[in-house]
Amino acid sequence: MSQALALYQLQEIELGILRCQKRLSEIASALEDSQAVAEARARLESAQKILSPLQTRARSLELEIQSNADKIRATDERLYSGSVRNPKELQEMQQEIQALRRRNGDLEDALLDVMLAVEEAEAALNAARANLQQVTSDWETNNQTLLEEQTRLKNDEARLIEQRRQALSHINAENLKLYNALKPRRHNQPVAVLDGDTCAACGVEQTMAIISDLDRGVSLVKCMSCGRILVRKPGKA
Ligand SMILES: [Zn+2]
Repeated sequence: MSQALALYQLQEIELGILRCQKRLSEIASALEDSQAVAEARARLESAQKILSPLQTRARSLELEIQSNADKIRATDERLYSGSVRNPKELQEMQQEIQALRRRNGDLEDALLDVMLAVEEAEAALNAARANLQQVTSDWETNNQTLLEEQTRLKNDEARLIEQRRQALSHINAENLKLYNALKPRRHNQPVAVLDGDTCAACGVEQTMAIISDLDRGVSLVKCMSCGRILVRKPGKA
């Protein structure tokens, strides 16, 4: 293999490694971002905080109504049992029953309002719960895809790093030094393919002298315009 071709292969391997690393860093930041899930969970928690005190209030109203109803029934039974004969006491019992009935009327109105608020809060809670499930499931699906891509890219990167190690063993120190010196100034592409008699990187047509130097393959030949190391693509004449 010619030195120019070995350098070209090194360049393609190194570009592949750079592509892997760029995508791996994008994936790493995407995996950290689960803001949508956090927001959906916060919505569910705030819906629960609204519902709980309303349910407590409804239960306490029901208990008070029940307790008043028990008192009314007990007093009613005593009133009609004939055991109490004192007119003043009988009148007080009747007044107590009336007061308890009025009180229960007010409590039942209040309970109705609270029950409506409970229904609304339950609907909001169910919507928040469904939303959290959807968002979580979307995020997991997305994560799954990203995690699979991450595994594949890490394997690709490891394979390319091994290929790079092998490619380096075919390149002499002086040529590698030139390649490395050109790399930062040529966007990591210090080697250019000669397409016909034109440099594929900068599009400048090369002289017959350069082309014949390249085809003799004695030493590295550089593009007369961009200065990249020229190579004939493998498999081409
Ligand atoms: Zn060029």
